[in-house]
Amino acid sequence: MATVTQDDILSVLKRIAAPDGRGNVVSAGLVSDIAIQGGTVMFALTTSPQHVKSMEALRGAVEKAVLGIAGVDKAMVALTAERAPAQPGQPAQPQSQRGTGIPGIKHLIAVASGKGGVGKSTTAVNLALGLTSLGLKVAVLDADVYGPSIPKLFGLTGKPEPSDAAGKKMKPMTRYGVEVMSIGFLVPEDTAMIWRGPMVMSALTQLLRETEWGEADVMVIDMPPGTGDVQLTLAQQTPLSGAVIVSTPQDLALIDARKGLNMFKKVNVPVIGIVENMSYFVCSKCGERHEIFGHGGAREEAERIGVPFLGEIPLDKEVRLRSDSGEPVAATQPDSLHAALYRDVARQVWASLSGGKLARPAPRIVVEGQ
Ligand code: ADP
Repeated sequence: MATVTQDDILSVLKRIAAPDGRGNVVSAGLVSDIAIQGGTVMFALTTSPQHVKSMEALRGAVEKAVLGIAGVDKAMVALTAERAPAQPGQPAQPQSQRGTGIPGIKHLIAVASGKGGVGKSTTAVNLALGLTSLGLKVAVLDADVYGPSIPKLFGLTGKPEPSDAAGKKMKPMTRYGVEVMSIGFLVPEDTAMIWRGPMVMSALTQLLRETEWGEADVMVIDMPPGTGDVQLTLAQQTPLSGAVIVSTPQDLALIDARKGLNMFKKVNVPVIGIVENMSYFVCSKCGERHEIFGHGGAREEAERIGVPFLGEIPLDKEVRLRSDSGEPVAATQPDSLHAALYRDVARQVWASLSGGKLARPAPRIVVEGQ
C-alpha cells in the first residue's frame, strides 16, 4: 500500500476552497495538527463557534477528499473552535434547546471532574444505571481516552461489530440494558497512545457519530479528568444538555471542582449539579460513620455558588469491588443503600433534563404495620 505523506494531504486540501472567499483551506490557515498513522489520517479544521454548523459540511467534504488519496483508509477531521466570547446583551442559547444532533439520542450529559481518581467513571456508570432504573433508555460514551475504564466497569470485553457490510458504523456493546461505546474497545489496553487535543476530538466525534446508537433518553459521557483545553473543546463541541461534576470532599478537589464549573460556564453548558463521592465511610464492624476527608464541603460549596447538590456517595468497599469487577452496585445490588443513592442522583438529573417529568413515578414507601 502507498505510504501517505503530509504533502499528499496538503496538496489535496489546497484544492478545497475556504469559506468566505478566503482562498483554500490550507492558505487560510484552517488546517493544523496533521497526524498520519498507517492509513489513518487525522487533522484539525479551525472554525469559530458561530460557524460550526456550516463548517460541518466542509468537514465532510474535506474528509471525503482525503479518503480519495491512495493509501488512506480512514480520515478523521476534527473541527476545533476558537472561542468567541458571548456578546454582551446577547445570552447564548442554552445547549439543551439545540438538540443533540445524534439520531435517536435526546440528551447528552457530561460527567466531569477537576482531577483524576475521584470516582468520576464509577459515578458515570452508576448514574447511567440509576437512570435505567427510572425506566429510561440510556447510553454511555467513554470519552476518557487517557484511561478508558468504562469497559471494565461494565465487565465488557471484545470489539464492537460493524453494523453493516460496508463497515462504516459500529454497533455499541450492551450490558445491563445500557448501550456502551469506548475507545477502550478499539485500542488494545497496553498500547501507549499519545493523544493530542485535535486527535481526542476526532476520535470522540467518530465514536459519537459512527456508532449505530439505538434510541436513548440520555447519553452519559464520561469525560477525561481535568479542565484543560481538551476538556474545554469537548464540552464546547459536544451538544451537551448539562454536566454533572464529581468531587471528593477534600478542599483541593473542591478547588478543582470549581474549575470544572467555570469550564462549563465558559461554554454555556448548564451544570446540573455536584455529586460528592467518597463522602464518608461507614465501618462495617462498628457501624460508625467516619468522615475521613472532612465532610459537607461539596454541599456548602454548591450552596455558596448556587449549583444544585445532587448527593453524597459514601466510600464503600462494596462499591469499589463491584465497580472493579464489572458488576456495578446500581445494577447488581438494586436494594442496597448505594443503589438508592445513585437512583436519587439519577432522579434529580432527569428532573433537571426533563423539566421535572419522571419516566416512572418514584415508588411510594409503605411502612409495614401502619
Ligand atoms: P476516576 O474516573 O475519577 O478516575 P474511578 O471511577 O475510576 O475514578 O474510581 C477510582 C477508584 O476508586 C476505583 O478503584 C473505584 O472502584 C474506586 N471508587 C470510586 N468511587 C468509590 C466509592 N464511592 N467507594 C469506594 N471506592 C470507590
